[in-house]
Amino acid sequence: MDKDDPNCPIRMQVIPSSKEQVNEFGMDDYLVYKENRDTDEVRPDSIARQYHDRIAFTVIETCGIYCRHCFRKEVIVDQDLKLRFDIQEGLDWIAEHPEIRDVLITGGDPLLLSDDKLGDLIAKLRAIPHVQMIRFGSRLPIVLPQRITEGLKKALGGFHRVPIWINTQCNHPKEITEETAKAVYELMTCGINVGNQAVLLKGINDDVPTFRELHQKLLTVRIKPYYVFYCEPAPGIDHFRTSVEKGAELIRDALRGHTTGLAQPMYVLATKIGKIPLMPDYYIVDKNEKEYTLRNYKGETTKIPNIPE
Ligand SMILES: *Cc1c(COP(=O)(O)O)cnc(C)c1O
Ligand code: SF4
Repeated sequence: MDKDDPNCPIRMQVIPSSKEQVNEFGMDDYLVYKENRDTDEVRPDSIARQYHDRIAFTVIETCGIYCRHCFRKEVIVDQDLKLRFDIQEGLDWIAEHPEIRDVLITGGDPLLLSDDKLGDLIAKLRAIPHVQMIRFGSRLPIVLPQRITEGLKKALGGFHRVPIWINTQCNHPKEITEETAKAVYELMTCGINVGNQAVLLKGINDDVPTFRELHQKLLTVRIKPYYVFYCEPAPGIDHFRTSVEKGAELIRDALRGHTTGLAQPMYVLATKIGKIPLMPDYYIVDKNEKEYTLRNYKGETTKIPNIPE
């Protein structure tokens, strides 16, 4: 980060601000609400569930960097909310639930576990017959790429029935370095797919040039944009929040048609009933019995026949 520039996009993500005290819209106990912890289904603290076939599995509360916009701030940054994250308890729960085919390991930052602990965790998950894929959410390829060591590659890598996907979090092109490019390449050479989940942050990445550069630059270091998240109504982060429509507008104005479709993430609102995608809704301008009128990114229109089903 730039130590002389208070508006440095990296600095704004990590240096506390007095604006965090102005909490007009953030919900108290946000995580309990968002992660459906207050339901009849009894689950360990480490398991957050919104879907039938997959869960988020929290294995650590430590991060490589502490983000001021974190929606899990109550657990990770402020530590007001006391939850017990016991890895074995979570593994036992997954083993007892045959409908869980996809395990998203999160935190904190799970790649901060030691190589041995990670190797052990992955071996135990892969031994569960109904687990078909393992995912990690980790900022380390961006904020601590030096963590991608030979030892880590040994713990994660190799051809296996159960593949590993890593989604990192990069919010601004300035965060993408040569070290990140190397780390991503190292992960890919051992069979790991790398994607990005950005958070839409006011004053950091919510303008057209930055949003476009971020997604183009991710592809130059082999990271596939997966999601862009609306900044959630967690406590103390009002000042980072844009309008709900902003992400869809940015996809329309910065990405779709302006650059390759590979650069386009899905813009989603993460809610307690799952992630809800929001697309810019200008493509179908008109529809009648004979034809559809479609609009492209430049505002040009074309027609295709409406073929009866
Ligand atoms: C985000 C999330 C998932 C994964 O969602 P995908 O759309 O499959 O990436 C799973 N469980 C919970 C609780 C989540 O928040
Ligand atoms: S790395 Fe993730 S969990 Fe940790 S503070 Fe940042 S957003 Fe929150």
